[in-house]
Amino acid sequence: MRCHDCGKLVAANKAPEGSILFCPRCNNQIHYRFTNSIARTWALIITAAILIVPANLLPIMRVDFLGSQEYSTIMDGILYFFHSEEYGIGLIIFIASILVPLFKIIGMLLILLSIQFKWKTWLRHKAAMFRFIQFIGRWSMLDIFVIAVMSALVDFGSFTSTHTAHAATFFTAVVVCSMFAAMTFDPRLLWDS
Ligand SMILES: [Zn+2]
Repeated sequence: MRCHDCGKLVAANKAPEGSILFCPRCNNQIHYRFTNSIARTWALIITAAILIVPANLLPIMRVDFLGSQEYSTIMDGILYFFHSEEYGIGLIIFIASILVPLFKIIGMLLILLSIQFKWKTWLRHKAAMFRFIQFIGRWSMLDIFVIAVMSALVDFGSFTSTHTAHAATFFTAVVVCSMFAAMTFDPRLLWDS
């Protein structure tokens, strides 16, 4: 067996059936399969699919300007950049905040459904898609970074300042849930049937 943390190959053939083995190098528990992989991945992906609704519908940012408060959602922000002809930034935020989270949830749902119903087609593509979902996981926090930078830059006390609003929490939860879903998912399940 290969240790998931440090990659060391461990001979497990002499261990009694059902015993718990630890990596001799990094002491991480080693196993042929992730435990309860499919149930955990389902739970996390369903949670992410539910949370993505308030993440997009509720305001993600609050701008205080001379005592008046203005709220904006993710889509408002993207439209704002497009209206001010900042197409590059608008497109990056659209891809990172709307397309990528949706793609991750739909992609993982497709993989999970294909395991549950033992679909035997496009397995190679699904495996490649899973690796891509794992890879892009770390790039989805862009919206949160934008707001973090904005609140640091645009802070002139009571004159004008920027804050996060409710959707930021939901958005972060979506990203964290889908990252955990990719971590708990065992791609070997795809090939079982
Ligand atoms: Zn190890």
